[in-house]
Amino acid sequence: MDKTIITVAVTGAFPTKEHNPNIPLTPKEIAADVVECWKAGAAVAHLHMRDDEGKGTMNKDKFKETVELIRAQCDIVLNLTTSGDLFATDETRMAHVIELKPEMASYDAGSMNWMHSGLFLNPPQFLEKLGKVMLENNVKPEIEIFDAGMVYNSFYYIKKGVLATPAHYQFVLGADGGTAATVENLVYLKSLIPSEATWSALGIGKGHLPVLFATLALGGHVRVGMEDNVYYAKGRLAKSNAEFVARAARLIGEANKTVATPDEARKILGLKK
Ligand code: ZN
Repeated sequence: MDKTIITVAVTGAFPTKEHNPNIPLTPKEIAADVVECWKAGAAVAHLHMRDDEGKGTMNKDKFKETVELIRAQCDIVLNLTTSGDLFATDETRMAHVIELKPEMASYDAGSMNWMHSGLFLNPPQFLEKLGKVMLENNVKPEIEIFDAGMVYNSFYYIKKGVLATPAHYQFVLGADGGTAATVENLVYLKSLIPSEATWSALGIGKGHLPVLFATLALGGHVRVGMEDNVYYAKGRLAKSNAEFVARAARLIGEANKTVATPDEARKILGLKK
């Protein structure tokens, strides 16, 4: 098999047009960008929304508009964030999941200091509620891991039945406040998860390519996109998210693997229709 899933995270909650003028922010821009990434080989799109000022928002109407535009044009798997605004209430963080029932949504397995500026809160009560909402709505959690403690925290929720198995992990390396984007850290984190789990990884900043190469070598799936990196190479801004996807697709081919289609990704991740 050796099919590799490319997830593209096109927007995120933080980068602006000043960081990179090519970042998509409105529902129309995001949808057009995702379709372009799907054509380039992305099987999963991880989505954040922005308000009219460009700030991260959990506004479910924005999610709805974007999701509908994308679903009308392609079969990419949609993975909606539950962490797009540090000040959103628990209910706001889950409302779009309940209403839109995406195939996947992010599940951040612990709290942390975020970018030396605020708190990224995922307290036990929220993680229990969110896990149950995802189970009830057939939404597969993408368990986002920013440090090793979050892996162990996920085991608690698996044991409690709040998270189903086999689980899917996304190692997010290089966010300030979390684990640095190094090959050594990736190898360590990957060693902690059960063998039946599926996993993907991303590196932010200069660790992006080393983490991408190591992920392919270790048999993981990959995530790219402007949520994580606005630079394509040192000193050169990305022209588009699709440019990152196209590079990942080339590297997957060079690594003697195949880029997974959305339907293949559904099979690998055990997504329920
Ligand atoms: Zn995200």
